Formats: sequence, C-alpha cells, structure tokens
Amino acid sequence: FEKELLRIYSTGKSSGISKYNYIDYSEWQNTNANKNLILRQKDYWLNVFSDNIKILELPIDYTRPASFDFKGKSVGFCINKKDLSGFHELLNEREMTLFMGFAAAFSIFLSKLSNQDDIIIGFPVSGRPNANLDKVLGAFVNTLVLRSRFGKHQTLFDYLTKLKENVLNAYENQNFQFNDLVETLNLDRDPSKNALFDAMLSMPNQVEPTVDIRNTNILHKHEDDTAKFDLSLFVLDSGNNYELIFQYCRSLFNESTINRFIEYLKNVLYQINNKVNKQIADIDIITPYEKHQILNIFNNTTVDYPSDKTIIQIFEAQVTKSPDNIATYTKNEAITYKELQYRINVLANIIRAKSNTNNKAIGLILGRSVEMIISIYAILKAGCYYLPISTDTPLERIKYILKDSECDIIITQKKYINKVDSNVQVIDIESSDIFQEAKSKEYVNIKPNDIAYIIYTSGTTGKPKGVMIEHHSVINRILWMQKNYSIGLNDTILQKTPYTFDVSVWELFWWSFVGGKIFMLEPGGEKEPELIKEVITRNCINVIHFVPSMMEVFLDVHNNSGNKNKMQSLKYVFSSGEALKPNHVNSFFKLFTSDFNVRLINLYGPTEATVDVSFFECKRNTEYKSIPIGKPIDNTQLYILDENYKLEQPFGVIGELVIGGVQLARGYFKQKALTELKFFNSPFEYGRKLYKTGDLARWLPDGNIEYIGRVDHQVKIRGFRIELGEIENCLENHNSVKESVVIAHEENEDKYLCAYIVSNEVVNVDKLRKYMSGLLPEYMIPSFFVFMDNMPLTSNGKLNRKALPKPKLKPGSEYKAPSNETEKKVLNIWANVLKVDTSEISVSDNFFTIGGHSLKATILLSKIHKEFNSHITLKDFFKEPTIRNVSSLIETKEESKFYSLKINEIKDYYTISSAQKRLFLLQQMDQTSTVYNIHDTIYLGKEIDKEKI
Ligand code: AMP
Ligand code: MG
Repeated sequence: FEKELLRIYSTGKSSGISKYNYIDYSEWQNTNANKNLILRQKDYWLNVFSDNIKILELPIDYTRPASFDFKGKSVGFCINKKDLSGFHELLNEREMTLFMGFAAAFSIFLSKLSNQDDIIIGFPVSGRPNANLDKVLGAFVNTLVLRSRFGKHQTLFDYLTKLKENVLNAYENQNFQFNDLVETLNLDRDPSKNALFDAMLSMPNQVEPTVDIRNTNILHKHEDDTAKFDLSLFVLDSGNNYELIFQYCRSLFNESTINRFIEYLKNVLYQINNKVNKQIADIDIITPYEKHQILNIFNNTTVDYPSDKTIIQIFEAQVTKSPDNIATYTKNEAITYKELQYRINVLANIIRAKSNTNNKAIGLILGRSVEMIISIYAILKAGCYYLPISTDTPLERIKYILKDSECDIIITQKKYINKVDSNVQVIDIESSDIFQEAKSKEYVNIKPNDIAYIIYTSGTTGKPKGVMIEHHSVINRILWMQKNYSIGLNDTILQKTPYTFDVSVWELFWWSFVGGKIFMLEPGGEKEPELIKEVITRNCINVIHFVPSMMEVFLDVHNNSGNKNKMQSLKYVFSSGEALKPNHVNSFFKLFTSDFNVRLINLYGPTEATVDVSFFECKRNTEYKSIPIGKPIDNTQLYILDENYKLEQPFGVIGELVIGGVQLARGYFKQKALTELKFFNSPFEYGRKLYKTGDLARWLPDGNIEYIGRVDHQVKIRGFRIELGEIENCLENHNSVKESVVIAHEENEDKYLCAYIVSNEVVNVDKLRKYMSGLLPEYMIPSFFVFMDNMPLTSNGKLNRKALPKPKLKPGSEYKAPSNETEKKVLNIWANVLKVDTSEISVSDNFFTIGGHSLKATILLSKIHKEFNSHITLKDFFKEPTIRNVSSLIETKEESKFYSLKINEIKDYYTISSAQKRLFLLQQMDQTSTVYNIHDTIYLGKEIDKEKI
C-alpha cells in the first residue's frame, strides 16, 4: 500500500488499479508500527518548520478583510507546450515531475512578487487510491506543504535539486495530516489568513489522471466563485497546451493585477525554459511595458531651471522688484525687502571679516526671529554655508557637530552664548550696534554648486552626519513648488519648522523668490496648537507645514472649537516627514470643510535629496487605502530596485526607493566611504549618482508611489529621524550597560522608544536618563527602560526583536494617590493621554518617565485647557511635569480668574478654588466675619472686593 502511494506521488502516475479503500487506510494507520511511522513523520514536519515561519505578503490591491471572506474569481490562460520544450528537457534531465517544475516556477514567482526569500505553498494530495471514495469520503484528501528558501546567490539548478528532494520528502511524510501539523505548530491564528500557507498549487490530472478531479468539492471548479486562498494556481494538461488558472480572492486583488501576475508567471517559466539565468536572483518578472513606463513615462520630469543661479541672486533680483514689500515679520516687528537686504549685507560683511575664506560652515544657535532670517541669508551672501544647531542641543553634541563640520564661527543670541566653546568666534546678533555701520567688503563670487547648508542627521555608527546641499538643488526644489502650488506678493508662509529639519528650507526661501512674506512663529510655538491657530488667523497665513502626527493633534484640538471664520486664509497645507495616513486626511477634510479653499499635499524626501522629491495631493471625498507619496518632482528620478539595486520590481512589488536627479546632496561631510556607499553610480544614466534611501516602496500602476516602511533600523518619531543604533551606542558607552537594544513600538497610532538593557548591576533609570540627556536630543531619549537578564535570541543566534516584551508601567514603591478633586481630574486626563489605568500613575510621577513625550504633552495640555479652561504653557509644564504640580498650577490660575470675575461673566455657579474653600472654612468658624460672602456679591451683581478679602 505504502509503496503504491509513494509511486503515485513521486511519479505522478497511478497504476489505475484500485485495490485499496479508506477502511484499509485507517486500519493501516492504527497499527502500532504505523503509529511509530506517523510519529517519525511528525518529527519530519516539525523539523521543516522549526524556525520562524514567514507569512506570505503578496502585493494586494485592497485592505485585507478582518476575516478571510472566500470571495473568489478565476482567470485562465494557456501556454503552448511547444514553448516550454526547454523546461521539459530540464525536468527530464533531472528526473523531475511536471508538478515539481510548476512548483518551482510558482514558488519563484511568489518569492519575486512578495520580495520574500522563504516561501510556503500548499498542494493537495488525494490519499485515496480508490476514486470511488471521492464521493463517500471527500475529506480524505490531505494537503502537503512545500517550503522553499532562496539564498542570495542560489543557482536555479541547486534550487531545483533541493525542491525535488523536498517534494519527495513531503510525499513520503504525507501520513501526518496537515490539520495535525497546524495544531502541533501552535501558530498564531489570524482569521484574515489561512494557516501556514496562502498560496496553493494544484495539478489535478497530474496525480490522478483517471479521475476528473475538477468535479470534486475540494478542488477547483472553473466558474467557482469561492477562493480558499489568497492565490491558487491550477495547471491542467489539455493536450497541446497547459491550461493555467489563477484563482484569487477578489477582496484582495483586482483583475488587472491578476492579469499582470499572469505575465510575471509566464516570464518565470520562459526564463527557466531558456535556461539563461544561472541564478534565481537573475530571474525577473517585470514586463518590458512596465520598464518602459518607469524609465520613460513616470520619470519624465526634465524641465529647465535656472541652474546657473544662486539662492542669493534670486532673492536680490526680487528685492529690486518689490523693495518696499514686507518680507519678514513677527508679532513684534516687520521689515521690508530693502531693509532685509541691507541687514543681510552688513552681517555678510561681518562674517567675511571674521572668516578668512568662503565655502565654510557658519553655525547658527538661534531662536526663531527676524535675525534668524538675516543670519541665514547673510551666511550665503558671504559665500559660506549655514549649519543650523538647535538651541536645546546638549553641549557635548554641539561640540561634536562644530568639530566635525570644521566650524569656528557661530552666530547666536546672548542667552545661548554659554553653549559655545571659547575657541569659536561668536557673532552676537543682538548686540545693539551690529547693524549700525555697513563695512563694505568685496563680495565673493558664489557658484550654483557651492554648498548652501549642511544639516546633521542621526547616524547608525553612533554619531550624527552632515549632509551637504548645493544652491542649485534648493532652487530646483523651490521653483518646482512655485510652479505647482504658486504663491504671490500677498501670500505669507508660516515659519514653524525648527531650522534643523530640512523641511524648514522651503519655508525659509520660497517667499523670497516671489515677493511673498514669512511670518516667524515665536520660539516653541510649533508645539502649541492653540497658538498656531491664532497666528494663522491673525496673520492671514496662507501656507503651513505639519508633520502628520502634529497635524493630527492640531486637528483634534480644533475639531470641536467650531469657529468657521478662523483660518480661512489657508491655501496649502503641506505634510511630510513621516507617513500620512488616511485617517489624517479624513480628519483634515472634516475640519476644513468645502467652505475652505485649502489643499492638502503629502510630500516625501530625505535630507540627502534636498527636502522633498515626490508629491501627492489628497482629494476630498476620496476613500484611500493608504496615502501615496506620489510622483517625482521636476528633474528628479525615482526608482524602486531589488536588493541588488536592479530594476526588477514590477508595479506593486516592494523594493528599495532610490533617487536620482539634481537635488542629490554632494554627500556627507568628510565621510567619503559612507557617501560612496549611499550614493552609487546610476545604471540608467552614465555619470550620474543615485541615492539609496533605505525606504521600502512600490509603484502603483498609475505612476504614484506607495511608501511601505524601512529596510533598516532608522525610525521616524513625530518627524524626527532617528537611527536606533545611535541611541544604543550612547547607552553602551555607559559603564553599567552591558548590552542594549532600542525599539520603536507603535501603539494606537503612537510611536515611542523603548530601551532594553542587560546590566550586571542595578541601574538607576533617572541617572541613566540624565546621562543620556547630556549627549542626545530630547526626542532620542527612550520613554521606557526595560532591564533584561539576557537578550532573546532566535534559533540561529540572532537577536529576536519580536520576543522583546512590550514595556508595562508598574506603580512605583512611592505611589501617591490624588489628594483632591483637581488632582483626581488631572489624573484621569493623564491616564487617558498615556493610555494606562489611573491606578498605575502616582501624582508625583514625572510625565516623561512614564511614557510621555512632547507631543503627548501638547495633547495633555489642550485637554486640560478644555476641562479647566486653564492655559498652562509647555514651558511651565516642562519645569515640573507631575500631576501635583499641574493641579496646583490650575488652582493658582483659577484663583486669579476668580479675582478677575467681571459682572458680565456671571454664571449660576463657579468651580470653587482652594482659596475659596479656605475662606469658606474661616467663615464657618467665625459666622460674623465678612470674609466670605461670595454668594451675595454675585447675586447682587457686584464685583468682589479684593481688598476686603
Ligand atoms: P528626513 O531626512 O528627516 O527628511 O527623513 C527622511 C525619511 O523620512 C524618509 O527616508 C522616510 O523614511 C521618512 N519620510 C519623509 N517623508 C515621508 C512621507 N511623506 N511619508 C512617509 N515617510 C516619509
Ligand atoms: Mg524630508
């Protein structure tokens, strides 16, 4: 019996003689000897799946339904056997069945399509040598699984050899039932998917040529409308042809996608047939049509731009056109183009006098102000490049950046002078006489490919790296924006983005190319949604930028305020820095109803390619599955390449996004090796470079690009670009830390950092946090620290990131419960914002050590504002971020509000402040006292006599 089965499965041929039935089979299975055999087979299968099983991620068109819905559809196609003669030869030479051949082609196809190197497919085997059993015992059909691993340099022949062995082993071990296997493996069951595999291959008349298996209820019926798997491939032998049928789940794919899949599968079969590709990596599925679209249509972005100009030249040309227009203003002052130019020239002379050469970095440590604009332009005018440094960067980091960029001149304000070493020359921009006299100096000749700025971004090796951007790149970026989303003389851009982010670059220069204005939001204002709204309304702001997570908070805070007359001036809201999600877009258009004339544009780009390289405008009343990052901007090429940086990813298939064009950075300052690694020679255009973004993306058939995620451990947290390696490096330099891993967890759309630490001693978290604050910016300090005995490892000895536990808040030993009503209410708000239980927070806990971060602080304060009508600034909050302190701030504010009650504010009753309570108590003790008579005064409509109180 066994021999007969094996013969059928390994050769695909049945003897056609039915000698056995199911009863025989179950009896056979139950004998002792066979029990042992099943145990052996079980071991075999457990061994096949002993390590991490990867779930097949095909490029689907729709959002996967929460549970698999079996809605299917089939598309068939034919391949003439004559066209596969090489394929047949190959199989014959290697003594392989046709099934093995198609299993190989299908697995390679799936691997290419999913970009995964570990593919599991299922295939049905009919365990019944007797065809009649089919009617009686339809379920007596087992499913076998075939797992294929694709090595980086694996040859096709090696793969086929391995596959043949695996198929034979699968047949040999088929008595262990698939259901038992699934149960034994104890997999996490996801109702939206199948167990263990999501793609099926079935060749009905291969296994049992004497039976028309298409009529069975298990296998495929051509017109069937149910799909059991994401994608199944049926191969039928119909004489001269193979009839191939893709049966797919139509809740996942649309038909045009499946039609492309047909081409891809044919490509794989023909390439195996032609035996031209020795390595699996060389087999590609992309069609010539797609290559043409990507290379010549989607990337056809070449336009003329003034590549012979510098930023300063364009600005100065504008000054002559609109000398008396307002250029830059704040809530306190405004200056015209002419005045701005004058001050720029004076400062440029001062810079020139201090620096003996041009083309060098001049540092800035400034708060947002008119002086900031003057300084940046003056540095360019002096033929140097600006190096922005945040005013709250730790001293050690400033020191490192200045040294690394060879910067020895800093423009700063008095209050930041202590941030700079004595060996650096300082220009105090606020010194009273600085703009008094114009020392004239010969101007330098600035060239379009001189560097305009150098921005430091987080580095994997533990130190930040300086990205050098040239003038003409900035010009291309800004003129593209002006062409697509034009602004004019009367338009104002809000300068809100910290200048250490390159997003600020278009805010800082765009207006000055066209005679518009820039309004400088007060320092710190970028974190205050209420203030931003007021500023937009009061100053008629037309253009603003938000990182999506801040936009969400901004929209949330304003959602219920309902004043339709506010923010009507907005024309363009640009979003970039991290993924924009459909829910952001929905809330945007919910708040900005069609009465507003405002457009929302998603921009994408790394610092290394001058701010942004692609754009997508979001439309009202559109249901998005995801928000694409869109199409390449002018003079920019985008490619999505495979891991060997070859153009082999067809539409829908994920690969790494690489960028070409005029906006590429010159490279990393003084880091030749790293520059060469990230900027490589373009295979498409001789003499040009391409930049590897490390971002995963895919083409949509309409020429838009969808962002998927990262290939590495770079993360974006509220728009901040962070290499987790840099934080780990900092931790590991601490004496008590033996090993560390930092992870960005995502929960309820909120991302936060968590550090896992192995240490031999007890480490005080507060001290560790303090140590890190001295070296890293605030946004790089993890919200949670988890101490581990050992790091969890996978079976092959690598760190098992998935096995790292999510951090949990534990009430500390010094737990303090709320002591009054205000504290209770504040506690509720904290728990709500931090998404934890109130019992887990003590009123003396520091917000930032129990999972809070600055964006959450913004949310918290606006909720407090709503609840208590009490405005606490972030600055006050940061001083002592505890429930106790916040509550007392609220109470103090209430008291002062109470004192300033006006008659027209009379309400039925008021929240009672602690001062009132004290007074009430006093009055209870001394009834004749007149200290507490609030009721009467209110009823009489009199103002409270403060003196008397
Ligand atoms: P930065 O150099 O700070 O501009 O960061 C660049 C990185 O931010 C990119 O490589 C992406 O990972 C991410 N990023 C920027 N814009 C977007 C966007 N619109 N959607 C998704 N990710 C983005
Ligand atoms: Mg960017």
